[in-house]
Amino acid sequence: MMAGLDPDDWQGLRALGHRMLDDMIDRLAAHGASAGPVWRPMPPEARQALRTTLPRGPTDPAALYEAFQAQVVPYALGNTHPRFMGWVHGGGTGIGMLAELLAAGLNANLGGRDHAPIELERTVIAWAAEMVGMPVTSSGILVTGSSMANMIAVLVARRAAAGPAVRAEGVGGRGLVGYAGASAHGCIPRAFDLAGLGTGALRMVPLDADRRLSMAALAEAVQRDRAAGLTPFLVAATAGTVDTGAIDPLEAVAAFCAEQRLWFHVDGAFGALAALSPTIRPRLRGIERADSLAFDFHKWAQVPYDAGCILVRDGQAQADTFAQTLAYLSREDRGAAANAPWPCDLGPDLSRGFRALKIWMTIASYGADRMGELVDRSCAVARHLASRIEAEPFLELLAPVTLNIVCFRVCQGDGDLDHLNGELVKDLHESGIAVPSTTVIDGKRAIRAAIVNHRTTEHDVDLMIDGLLELARKRRIVTESADSARYFRR
Ligand SMILES: *Cc1c(COP(=O)(O)O)cnc(C)c1O
Repeated sequence: MMAGLDPDDWQGLRALGHRMLDDMIDRLAAHGASAGPVWRPMPPEARQALRTTLPRGPTDPAALYEAFQAQVVPYALGNTHPRFMGWVHGGGTGIGMLAELLAAGLNANLGGRDHAPIELERTVIAWAAEMVGMPVTSSGILVTGSSMANMIAVLVARRAAAGPAVRAEGVGGRGLVGYAGASAHGCIPRAFDLAGLGTGALRMVPLDADRRLSMAALAEAVQRDRAAGLTPFLVAATAGTVDTGAIDPLEAVAAFCAEQRLWFHVDGAFGALAALSPTIRPRLRGIERADSLAFDFHKWAQVPYDAGCILVRDGQAQADTFAQTLAYLSREDRGAAANAPWPCDLGPDLSRGFRALKIWMTIASYGADRMGELVDRSCAVARHLASRIEAEPFLELLAPVTLNIVCFRVCQGDGDLDHLNGELVKDLHESGIAVPSTTVIDGKRAIRAAIVNHRTTEHDVDLMIDGLLELARKRRIVTESADSARYFRR
């Protein structure tokens, strides 16, 4: 009776599995039809119900599934819902969900060794390079997200600039400095921190009038650092900034990096895949010259979390950054320990899941062209939202809409508009109508809608604006400090 963990009778598990699958497919279908609130606050009882102590004995899987349905599903963030427009979240797909099930069933470990799942990851990496026009011989791996991908890029660039000794000695005293636009994502300074360079070694370069990295300011910063005896080594440009969707002048940065012998990195977390849209692709020109590119499949490509990707043009540079020789990980010429280099030679993880399967299935089932059409759709919905905002006297746009991100605010009302707009976004969340997020543009608190979910339509953004105006109207009737939640609690 003390054998393994498999059940004596598989029928019960099979029946439960079929029920789970039906329920989750029903849920996706309902979200496709915009059913239910996007998000709802978690009542204290529901939160408490999840805080259990370690179960020492067994629990019936059916009871665990009931708990999942009762206490987790209703209080998920809602990014599968078409009116989720906060941050930059993908919407997921049914095929992606099924692929996750298959990957878990296989329980593959893609750290290394000789098996088909690794071949599939290599295929996905080659597809990724093809999508953006980098050489298909580029190396790369799938990672959690662009935060990890950007960190890997900084580590590879650091090793390439400082030589092999940096891996043993650390960076101390080398004076390595890098550059990114002032609107770069927070994971770039974090990568500098984690790489031992320090956030102080990352120069946040001022933006031009279009909120893109200013080439004049970049050239000046590099020159100033060289004159001070420092060693510039990398420029991290962004293709699709998180605040406004601006695309840094990639071609100019590529040329500048070539001339100055700097590593040209691109953070294309969501924007890189806009290369699949024939209409947007010309605006990403230069991305194909990147020494390294970080991006996500879990944003615009709608692959379920998590699914990030790092591509490095010079595969040797990537291997030189991470490869180790460890006795128990010996690589052989045949048998299960063949097929080097392994993915664990290309990043910090040893054990790795089978992310490649859900990416492979999602991309192949729709086709890359359809993915490009989705990008165009999102941008069209964003333009519709912008025109709606321009037509409403209560509202103003705070940044040009260049891709899929719309920053705006309610511009009427007494007192502190920053506070008012922040409160209105919370009202909107609690109303269940829509979930945008916020940012700060030129010192002003902005409501920020990022259209990423493939389910979001013009109708959804109209409903968001209608809901917002209704909430703004109510707010001005009540006193300034009122807690709007009580009006909209479900
Ligand atoms: C989302 C995002 C990141 C971080 O990516 P994660 O997948 O969340 O780690 C980095 N840069 C930009 C521009 C992003 O939009």
